Amino acid sequence: MIIQKTSNSRIGEFDPENIGFGTAFIDHMIVCEYENGKWGEVRLMPYGPLPFTPAMMGVNYGQACFEGMKAYKDKDGEVYLFRPEKNFERINKSAKRLAMPEITEEMFIGGLKALVDMDRNWIPYGEGKSLYIRPLIFATEEALKARIANKYMFAIVATPVQSYYTEPVSVKISDFYSRAASGGVGSAKAAGNYAASFYPTKLAAEEGYEQIIWTDDATHKYFEESGTMNVFVRINDTIYTPPTSEKILDGVTRDSFLQLAKHRGIDVKVEPVEVAKVLEAHSKEELIEVWGVGTAVVTSVFKAIGYKDQKLTLPELSEEESFALTLKKALVDIQTNKAEDPFGWRV
Ligand code: PMP
Repeated sequence: MIIQKTSNSRIGEFDPENIGFGTAFIDHMIVCEYENGKWGEVRLMPYGPLPFTPAMMGVNYGQACFEGMKAYKDKDGEVYLFRPEKNFERINKSAKRLAMPEITEEMFIGGLKALVDMDRNWIPYGEGKSLYIRPLIFATEEALKARIANKYMFAIVATPVQSYYTEPVSVKISDFYSRAASGGVGSAKAAGNYAASFYPTKLAAEEGYEQIIWTDDATHKYFEESGTMNVFVRINDTIYTPPTSEKILDGVTRDSFLQLAKHRGIDVKVEPVEVAKVLEAHSKEELIEVWGVGTAVVTSVFKAIGYKDQKLTLPELSEEESFALTLKKALVDIQTNKAEDPFGWRV
């Protein structure tokens, strides 16, 4: 690894008591370039702009994928990553699906550790505070022809974040738009998946919904994900989540929730979640909770679900009654070293 330290740290301008989301970047970044069929040396260098032109293939043909993960600081100032090997596996799965070169574990995990270590002073401590880390791979070749590019960049950038207490949100079950298609790229963290989701999300917002519950593209009868999160439904005392597939992102938080729920003896079913079953459970007053899970906010609780012209209201639960909030707390306590880690997730 080539290490180029900044002589101009911006840490003095950073106020850990006053953090936005995703707009102030730490002093350094990781970059590594791919050409002539191989990755070059990883560089840890000052964060900043790089020279590209609008003819860069990544922005024209969308060969671009990314990861989202966090580093947490505990009360003693120790810093932890959470299950980084899952993000490493997933970025390579995304790269493969987009016909991009895979990266090595040394580039990914080694790059993460070096960057986080170098800029550990940027990692805020306190409830909901962490360093959000964005590894990404994109095509940099300058050429306008729709084909697999020959040049790429792997990079890691990071920004301190504060996830504020998130109010329960209203979500709309999509009966027209889809996030992912059969045989498509839904299980990849392809940049284009996000671009395609913004317009339907904007339409839902115009109807007063914060997020969409994405349904399958063929029939719109089954839940897939919610916004940029995996989705869980609780009917009576059983929790359901759809199985991952080529249309559903294999979320690290989803997998952690499943393991935590089983560990606590909660009845968990990974099976297709039919819209009709959710509506019926609601009519019988058996629909207790529906929530989304992902790295950014960990858990987003739903207070109402829209479907066509109906709006179903969900019960308001206390933290003790809610599986969503109980599991969230258990997970955050492991991530931030406030609890034992029987799964070996902290790194
Ligand atoms: N689904 C989508 C589409 C996402 O973008 C994310 C965020 N990465 C998730 C689910 C949740 O995944 P994770 O728990 O790994 O953050």
